[in-house]
Amino acid sequence: MYDIIIIGAGPAGMTAALYGRRANKSVLVLEAKNYGGQIVNASSIENYPGIEKISGYDYATTLFNQITNLGVEIKYETVIKINSNKEVTTTKNTYQAKSIIIANGAQNRHLNLPLETDFIGKGVSYCATCDGAFYKDKDVAVLGGGNTALEDAIYLSNLANKVYLIHRRDTFRGEEKYLKELETKENVEIILNSTITKLNGHEKLESITIQDKEKREKEINISGLFIAIGQVPNNTIFKDIVDINDKGYIVSEDGVHTKTEGIYVAGDTRVKDLRQLTTAVSDGSIAAMTAIKEMKK
Ligand code: NAP
Repeated sequence: MYDIIIIGAGPAGMTAALYGRRANKSVLVLEAKNYGGQIVNASSIENYPGIEKISGYDYATTLFNQITNLGVEIKYETVIKINSNKEVTTTKNTYQAKSIIIANGAQNRHLNLPLETDFIGKGVSYCATCDGAFYKDKDVAVLGGGNTALEDAIYLSNLANKVYLIHRRDTFRGEEKYLKELETKENVEIILNSTITKLNGHEKLESITIQDKEKREKEINISGLFIAIGQVPNNTIFKDIVDINDKGYIVSEDGVHTKTEGIYVAGDTRVKDLRQLTTAVSDGSIAAMTAIKEMKK
């Protein structure tokens, strides 16, 4: 029996673990992949109050060390089911908790084009900081108009020969600061109002076909395509126990409780306006403190 089981070892889940353990609760974190969640892919975090600059990997590792040094248990197991008795079933075991915090984040959105999955690791990537080095001095493209795409394009411009930044609209969602930096990069070409309609290649990605608003098509030869078009949650396994909106995010009226007593939500997986590191850690602390308070009742 654990006091708190946390599903997901991203910033929200690890912060919940930190607060839970500091309150002397037994805490188990279950993580399907690696600790850190999406933040490990950020080459540089510059908007976290009190830290001028840190890589996502360093941030996640520091937080991981902080919680494991406090005695938080982390098991790398995929959760397949939870129930209202606070039983958590993974592919390996079943665990019992007094409270559960769902902090499973979100995954990279795919374009869902033919060959996309076949070409993962062979030209298609969702993480510039992880895979960028494979494309040194090659031509690459980044798809997307948010901060991730802008940051990826900047990062890749320092490695690749040429970077095409392709966005479906004529204005970017990402911050002005990154756009200004991109404008200084001579090897970056911005292509607006365009979408990718085809991935071409035999064994690996060789080119993409893009289409503009007038439906004119153009082929661009590239070795790497970095898809940075946002995230999607994966909450189907929780559908009987929490409310989920039409986009798959967990609905919580106050941002922490779900419809089931003792089951809380934190981070990118819930309906919210701003998905940032600051809001993820805020969610994690509130979820843990709420769980602890309600456990005592
Ligand atoms: P995002 O802000 O949701 O942006 C996704 C982008 O992909 C949007 O420009 C969207 O276009 C485009 N898009 C979505 N579906 C598409 C499709 N099927 N085909 C083509 N384009 C598509 O995602 P994100 O950039 O990953 O950022 C997620 C959150 O993390 C944001 O809150 C962001 O600010 C934050 N973040 C912050 C930092 C930082 O502060 N350093 C770094 C990275 C991320 P539209 O604009 O037309 O919708």
